[in-house]
Order: sequence, then structure tokens, then C-alpha cells
Amino acid sequence: MIGDKDLGFETRAVWAGEDRVSAGEATQVPVVHSVAFAYDDLDEWLEVSLGNRPGHFYTRNTNPTVAVFEEKARVLEGGEAAVSAASGMGIISGALFALLASGDRVVSVKDTYGGTNRLFTEFLPRQGVGVTLCETTDFAAIEAEVAKGCQVLYLETPTNPTIKILDLERLARAGREAGAVVMVDNTFATPVNQNPLALGADLALHSATKFLGGHADALGGVAVGSRDLIRKIYAYREIAGGALHPMSAYLLLRGMKTLHLRIERQNANALAIARFLESHPGVERVFYPGLESHPGHDIARRQMRGFGGILSFVTKGGTLEDAGRVLSRLRLARRAANLGSVETIAGIPATTSHVECTAEERRAMGIPESLIRYSVGIENVEDLKADLDQALAGC
Ligand SMILES: *Cc1c(COP(=O)(O)O)cnc(C)c1O
Repeated sequence: MIGDKDLGFETRAVWAGEDRVSAGEATQVPVVHSVAFAYDDLDEWLEVSLGNRPGHFYTRNTNPTVAVFEEKARVLEGGEAAVSAASGMGIISGALFALLASGDRVVSVKDTYGGTNRLFTEFLPRQGVGVTLCETTDFAAIEAEVAKGCQVLYLETPTNPTIKILDLERLARAGREAGAVVMVDNTFATPVNQNPLALGADLALHSATKFLGGHADALGGVAVGSRDLIRKIYAYREIAGGALHPMSAYLLLRGMKTLHLRIERQNANALAIARFLESHPGVERVFYPGLESHPGHDIARRQMRGFGGILSFVTKGGTLEDAGRVLSRLRLARRAANLGSVETIAGIPATTSHVECTAEERRAMGIPESLIRYSVGIENVEDLKADLDQALAGC
């Protein structure tokens, strides 16, 4: 079996989990569409269904193709175990609902992904879970709230869409001291750039829909952490029913084999574009942690190996109409709600990550209405710069 630590990241991305399932002499992981797995031996069936023996009995629980996806994610994040879900929100809501009960308390930040924010402002409070959302980069305030007692400290870095950086080592230490489970949404960074578990977190969460899959053709989510935590999340996901589809697991697996190549290119393209935009007369402000001007630059340098493929910027003028004009002129960008694919994708938070929020909520979160989020693809960077330059003409 492909080991966890004895091989380079690139080797693990290609090989991890791949030796788990076979279909005849096929070299590639088969897509096992079967809902159920049959056993002639009742004792064996029982042992498998009780989890005492490896194997599968029903695809809502486990499935061979899905298990390979979970294994690859586990190895890349460096945890003991992993469990998947049908989408990023499936695993985020699953982890929170599995580990929290009425009367518990969550501490998090204002800048989480829009769907996660809705869990915090609406669905968890409805279940009697208290939620305190701190100013995202006020680490002392987060520590003070955590010290008052909480069951979950939920973090996300870099954040969406203003690309703020949280100090994971410092905050994870505070969470551990308070006895909280520290969850980190690592979607933007990917395990190529950042490993939350190595920085002290208990769970690394992913919308695999984005960079892990990388081709914008499959939804999925995954959590990586200790056996004990993952067993609890699995127990909830199994019953809540949001299992990852085997076909999606296959598409995500195929994408993950090139994760390191894509992310290296996206890191490099994004840094070059951030520098280009920072010196562009039509641009008011650029948010990218790789820029020396970014307030989280030093922390990012410490905890990340690369700064990621997402940046955002505000055009001069700064109205929603200005942003709309620039967006509509872009030729080499999909105007869409997703991110993290091989092609460049641009959007505004009002229609993408924060569509769940009202304009007032976005304002309160410090998200300019004219902010453009730009998910840099693997294209030729000079082509992307030229495209942005023509789109920004007249700003
Ligand atoms: C997209 C995204 C999610 C939600 O993932 P889905 O797969 O769309 O459910 C969660 N967190 C972050 C940071 C995201 O970008």
C-alpha cells in the first residue's frame, strides 16, 4: 500500500489509494455503480456490515470507488481517516451536526463561505447551538471567545472572497486548550499549499468540487482527521444520506492525480496576476496573500507553501456597474459561481459565494459590492494579463 510519509506529495497524489480496488487487470480504479454488495456467507455479511471486516454492503454507507477517493484525500492531508459527502456543504454541515448538540457553542469568524455562514446564522441556532462570529483577523478576540468555552472552533483560511489569512497554529492552540474540536475549511489552500492537521487542527474540510477535482464537473466534499472524529461524522452522514456518488468520486480522483501540477501553476499565475493588477491604474485594491502589501502575508508565508489560485480586486470607481462592465468584457474567464478549475473563473460575491447573504450582510462583512473574485486557471499567464488589461480599459 502507498505509505503516508515515505513518498513525495506528487507521488502520493498519483498513487495513494489506487491499489485498493481492482476490476480484472484494469490499471484504473473502476466506477462501481452497484448499490449493494452481496454475501453468500451470512457471518461474513454481518462482520462487514458491523465494520469488523473490510468490505462494502450498501453504497449509502461505503462504496469501493468512493473509498479510494477518501483514501487519497486522507493521505494528501496526512490524517488517520477520511469521510466524504455529496458536496462541500454536505461534509461541512455533516461535521457540525455530527459533533454538536443543543446547548453547545461554536466560535467562528465572519468571513466563512456563504453557505457555512448560513449554518451559523440560521440552522445551528435553530437546533439550540450557540454561535459566536468574531472579526476574522482579530485573533485576540477569537482566543478570548474560545477561552469562554466552546465545543467547536471553526476556521477557514484563506477566506472567501477577500482572501484574509488566519493564524492556524495560534488559533488551533487556543482551541485545543479549551477542549474544542478545531475544524478548518482548507478548500482555498488545498493540501498542496497548507495542511491544517500539521498546524494543530483536528479536521481538514474540503469542497472537493473546487481544486481537488479541478475540472468543475463533479460535486463532492471530504473531511480528514482522527479515526474517532471521522467515525462520528460517518455515523451521521450514513443516516443523513448525503453520500458521494461513485461517478463523482471517480472524476474527483482523476483530477486529484494532477493536483500538484495544477496548483503549482495556479500559485504562479495568481501571484503574477496579483502583481500586475496591483500596478494597474484601473484597479483600486488587490487582495492576495502573496503580495507583500497583504496584511496576512507573513502568516501566509509561515503556514502556506504557496499562496493559492484565488485573488480578488476592486476596480477604480467601485460600483457594481463598474465590476459588471469589467466582468462582461473578460474573454478568458467563465462568469460562474464556482472556482478552482483549470479554466479561469470570475464572479462577484453578490452572485457567487455570498448569494445567500443580503446586501446589508455583505456590507457588514466588509465585502465591497464591486469586488471581483478571480479564480486563476492554468492558462498562459500573459494571455490572462492581456485579457484583464483590455477588460479594465476605461476604469
Ligand atoms: C464552494 C465552497 C464550499 C461549498 O462546497 P460545495 O461543494 O459547493 O457544497 C465550502 N467552502 C468553500 C471555501 C467553498 O469555496
